[in-house]
Amino acid sequence: MPDRLNVAIVGAGIGGLSAALALSAKGTNVTVFEGAESPREAGAGLSIPPNALILLRRTALCDELEKITTRSHGLTRRTSMGELLPDGASMGPSYQVHRADFLEMLLGVVKGPVRFGHRCVAVEQARAGARLVFANGAVCDADAVIGADGIHSVVQRQIGIIAHPTSEGIVAYRGLVQSQKLAWGAELRGLNMWMGDSRSFICFPVSQGRLINIVAFVPSMCDMEETWSAPGDVRSLAAEYAGWDASVRDLIAALDHTFRWGMYDRAPLPYWSRGHVTLLGDAAHPMVPHFGQGAGQAIEDGFALAVLLEHAKRDEIPARLRAYQDMRLERTSRVQAASRMAGRFYRFVSDNGQAERLQAWMSAAEWIFPYDAERAALAILQ
Ligand SMILES: Cc1cc2nc3c(=O)[nH]c(=O)nc-3n(C[C@H](O)[C@H](O)[C@H](O)COP(=O)(O)OP(=O)(O)OC[C@H]3O[C@@H](n4cnc5c(N)ncnc54)[C@H](O)[C@@H]3O)c2cc1C
Repeated sequence: MPDRLNVAIVGAGIGGLSAALALSAKGTNVTVFEGAESPREAGAGLSIPPNALILLRRTALCDELEKITTRSHGLTRRTSMGELLPDGASMGPSYQVHRADFLEMLLGVVKGPVRFGHRCVAVEQARAGARLVFANGAVCDADAVIGADGIHSVVQRQIGIIAHPTSEGIVAYRGLVQSQKLAWGAELRGLNMWMGDSRSFICFPVSQGRLINIVAFVPSMCDMEETWSAPGDVRSLAAEYAGWDASVRDLIAALDHTFRWGMYDRAPLPYWSRGHVTLLGDAAHPMVPHFGQGAGQAIEDGFALAVLLEHAKRDEIPARLRAYQDMRLERTSRVQAASRMAGRFYRFVSDNGQAERLQAWMSAAEWIFPYDAERAALAILQ
């Protein structure tokens, strides 16, 4: 049997665990190192877009996914007063899920150890691999290292990049509502968006319809810390949406608490791969969430990388990691820009140029959602 590559992944988020799933399915030995002491995930929903589903459905997760997700086709858009807007873009199916359920499912299928309580503090390049150093004193030598350690990536800094956050000037309030609190809660289906001037509001059911995930985007003058979990005030949120459609106001009134999330991204990085080390997910390309692509692009990264490392000899690893970087940098940079544009489309309905923004949004949906990252990676090997 050929000698298998040993790959170390820093970070057991959606990006790191999806990469572990894809790499191990292709015969690579994978070890994941997570800084947190135990699995922990914010109480929030996540939409898994069609481009990620193309990949996940080919894996051992396929049947399990059906059990923990609710499904939708496209996005139902309404004005702030609740009038339906023409559909306009074909998105294909997407699945909505509670983040904790999705992470637990990924942890259940990943082959190879996931070591919690291992916070990476340094990455050292070696001639034939790389060494990870952890705060607890442990070290790990690997043929390749993947930094999937999120927006404040240590691995990114270790390969010589300092990236600066760019604020979108908005804050998202997030929260989960128990469906039974609303007369119509159990009937809610799919992704629902209300679009207004300077604000937008999205909701979708998760946890088999028991909960409704909401995300409310409002302008903000203050630069917030980049975190998903700053507490927010439900009364301030209600004031932001006074006069909007009754469904939006009902959802906000049913919230027990809410969190605020500052919207930031980064300009595309100059490179992701150096020697035997590369980046993936938010460590490589944080993006604003308006096309629901944060997780989708992280999942694409992992599956593309798995194709490019399959059958690679050890001395080919640096070149394969550069090929991965070149292929993914191009696509994720386009998705980052499209995500910014989508945010403007949702929140500037009365401004000049909205017809052009609708057109741009529909065109982007057409190239973002049907993409097959494994096929694209195979094409560059041929
Ligand atoms: C609550 C929440 C809601 C979200 N909602 C949306 C959404 O609606 N739409 C959307 O597009 N995107 C959303 N995102 C973003 C999306 O989930 C991410 O873009 C995507 O999951 C990619 O994540 P990642 O694995 O690259 O990074 P992360 O999910 O940030 O995972 C990074 C992991 O690395 C670990 N880590 C960090 N530093 C170290 C270290 N030094 N050593 C070891 N481990 C380390 C962290 O503990 C974490 O587990 C959301 C994220 C969160 C947290």
